[in-house]
Amino acid sequence: MAEIIRSPKTYDVCIIGSGAGGGTAAKILTEGGLSVVMLEAGPPVNPATDFKEHVWPYQLPHRGAGVGGKASENFSEFLAPNGSWDIEGEPYTVAAGSRFRWFRSRVVGGRTNHWGRIALRFAPVDFRARSTDGMGDDWPITYDDLAPYYDKVESYIGVFGTKENVPSAPDGIFLPPPKPRCTETIVKKACDKLKVTCIPSRLAIITQPHNGRPACHYCGQCGRGCISASNFSSSQVMIPAADKTGRLTLITGAMAREIVLGKDGKAEAVSYIDKATRTEKRIHARAFVVAASACESARLLLNSKSTSFPDGLANSSGVVGRYLTDSVGSSGFGQFPQLAKVPAHNHDGVGGMHMYMPWWKFDRKNEFLRGYHIEFGGGRELPGVGDFDGVCEYYEGYGANLKQKCRELYGTFIGFAGRGEMIPNPNSYCEIDPSAVDEWGIPVLRFHWQWSDNEVKMARDMQQTFRMIVEAGGGTYYDRTSPDGPNPYGIEDGGVIIHELGVVRMGNSPKTSALNGYCQAHDVKNIFVNDAASFVSNPDKNPTLTIMAVSWRASEYLLDEAKKGNL
Ligand SMILES: Cc1cc2nc3c(=O)[nH]c(=O)nc-3n(C[C@H](O)[C@H](O)[C@H](O)COP(=O)(O)OP(=O)(O)OC[C@H]3O[C@@H](n4cnc5c(N)ncnc54)[C@H](O)[C@@H]3O)c2cc1C
Ligand code: SF4
Repeated sequence: MAEIIRSPKTYDVCIIGSGAGGGTAAKILTEGGLSVVMLEAGPPVNPATDFKEHVWPYQLPHRGAGVGGKASENFSEFLAPNGSWDIEGEPYTVAAGSRFRWFRSRVVGGRTNHWGRIALRFAPVDFRARSTDGMGDDWPITYDDLAPYYDKVESYIGVFGTKENVPSAPDGIFLPPPKPRCTETIVKKACDKLKVTCIPSRLAIITQPHNGRPACHYCGQCGRGCISASNFSSSQVMIPAADKTGRLTLITGAMAREIVLGKDGKAEAVSYIDKATRTEKRIHARAFVVAASACESARLLLNSKSTSFPDGLANSSGVVGRYLTDSVGSSGFGQFPQLAKVPAHNHDGVGGMHMYMPWWKFDRKNEFLRGYHIEFGGGRELPGVGDFDGVCEYYEGYGANLKQKCRELYGTFIGFAGRGEMIPNPNSYCEIDPSAVDEWGIPVLRFHWQWSDNEVKMARDMQQTFRMIVEAGGGTYYDRTSPDGPNPYGIEDGGVIIHELGVVRMGNSPKTSALNGYCQAHDVKNIFVNDAASFVSNPDKNPTLTIMAVSWRASEYLLDEAKKGNL
């Protein structure tokens, strides 16, 4: 067997992964005085050279369309670097009969370099869903337990929004929101007619200078990465704070393979592949925070087998890999002829929606349990590569005629996307594939996926609502969905909404959960899982603000336990 190179130092804490969960833990633990080593599988990121915020299509090979025009499959070549549906050398597999996709980032900051910055609090009822309708499970913590940490996260990172008192969408500590644009005003008016709640959105973008970061300059290109750090990424906001303490050692290109147990039953080290030298190295620490993104965290635990834990570390309950969920997603778009007549005007704004529809039917009996919110966008945004592909699908012609049609239609479309709650089911989970390994020899995940009737009914309701809103706004709804086939009513495949979570869930009982309410493993007290793997349910809100709140709370607890000598 090849020699394993061991670190001479034992750190207080080793964090695996530098995204939303890991970055938050690094800030809290280092500021609390602990020595922290962070293992990150990807390279460092340099916003000045790596982010394409102000790059024009003509500055990129293929004008940004990618080889074979395929760049749009990964949200285009403009996206912040090292995030993709497929990573060369690091496959995953999908069981026969299942449809699942997994977007991963390998870079300091993880997917917080790429995310849409939609930052929504879960509501009190989201933590108590089983008590409300008998499905799924309740969390071991309540909204009140997490509320102070939502406050801390929002105050630190900066989130814009307005206080609205909507029960399904708790208010937070907000910076002023940007003004609605023309398209948003049309949709708001249509929603008012239909009594659909439509309010300013809540995004982790700063509209005023905040904690040393300059305000957004409304270039509308958040997904490309923000050079001025006016939107939130862990790489630009959490990691620099941890670094400033002088107590963070960040090791990039370090792919954790296994957590190693000591003779005392506690974790004592992480074995990782140093990608640059292709050697195996080992880091020693007194406590471990696993935050590699939900499914990668489950994979690491499942691959850490020992005589005490033959089914994977901290998995005496057998729940690791189970209870996998993603948001229910279905989308559509409308064309609004009145927008063609609007004189040219400044449509600049943040790189996302200025308004959205929180779940508004929470006080009535619906055809399905739980709820969804609606995101929307469109209008005269800076045209991107491939923006006019749709015109060519619907209108015949070429040359000057087609160009004229593109000019007429430019800015007249508004797209709608529903994001709803999936209830965990026994047929949706991940496990270690018995035969496939990645290029580092690490066994990979195999995904199993099935939507239930509840989610399909929700997707149908989304389609009906989009149509109603578009028609109430004077537009024409383009329905490309069908009630049949693998994606009824346009329900996206599992994983496509990139809110996959729940695979190392928390709970009160060690028999039915892997972690306690502080993300601490029931079985091994010095292991914490500080990402969305710990979530018990997947409400209609995008998960990242909650990942940070949960990680902040768990890190303060870890800090306290470390100071008491309990780890
Ligand atoms: C295009 C896009 C849009 C999105 N929009 C939104 C949105 O608007 N709102 C929202 O709430 N969420 C959104 N998300 C989801 C959001 O990005 C994630 O929920 C969030 O980043 C998860 O944080 P994390 O810390 O769990 O994992 P990540 O941010 O994925 O970070 C995990 C890190 O761990 C590293 N890692 C993985 N395995 C290992 C290993 N074995 N060893 C060492 N390091 C490892 C990875 O390289 C990565 O850097 C979006 C995601 C994408 C891609
Ligand atoms: S819209 Fe604002 S936050 Fe987004 S990339 Fe541009 S300046 Fe940064």
